[in-house]
Amino acid sequence: MYYDLHIHSGLSPCADDDMSPQNIVQMAKIKGLQMISVCDHNSLKQQSVIAEVAKEHGLDYVYGIEIQTKEEVHVLAYFKDDHDLPLMQQWITHNQMKVVNRANFFGHQYLFDQHDQIVEEEKLALIFSLNVSLEECLHVIHNHHGKAVLAHIYGRKNGIVYQLGFIPEHLSIDGVEVSHEDDIQRFIDEYPCLSELPCFINSDAHHLSDIHEASFAINPKTLTRFWSN
Ligand SMILES: [Zn+2]
Ligand SMILES: [Zn+2]
Repeated sequence: MYYDLHIHSGLSPCADDDMSPQNIVQMAKIKGLQMISVCDHNSLKQQSVIAEVAKEHGLDYVYGIEIQTKEEVHVLAYFKDDHDLPLMQQWITHNQMKVVNRANFFGHQYLFDQHDQIVEEEKLALIFSLNVSLEECLHVIHNHHGKAVLAHIYGRKNGIVYQLGFIPEHLSIDGVEVSHEDDIQRFIDEYPCLSELPCFINSDAHHLSDIHEASFAINPKTLTRFWSN
């Protein structure tokens, strides 16, 4: 199943303003993807609309978010259904810095309806870390029946290796994300005890054209194991 499980919508301040639900889904279809996830920075507020649009167009949708912890590490949290999302969003809001977004500096944080109309702009800045540690964050994701995947572990700011220097082996994670195919072997070599975990290759697209082609597939068995563990 061809996937891209890390795409930003226009709700993320750093993403293009045309990263709207219809545009993202249409582009994913053109690229030949079968399963997508939009993971905005520190917010789940675009999830229900994007999920609806994706499903309407026959794509499998995984509810997601990219959380920035106190350590400035990016963690992707995935949810099989929307049951726990309201409570998860409450926890996020509670731990968010109460700073108003400066749109002309950080970028707009648009919320869209299913027809790509802007219905609201998120006021609180989503760019800052939540006031939670990485370990607490992983714990809360699991408490809300989510799966935790360390985002872009190599080579980029906010990846765990960039921020901490290594992946602590005791962390309770369900997968890792790399940006390039070559990094999979590096991960297996460096962390043999974590090598059983699924290793996702996602685009982290902030622009429509960056959404992945149908290049990376996950087999159904791996996916089932990911959700059931
Ligand atoms: Zn990130
Ligand atoms: Zn991202």
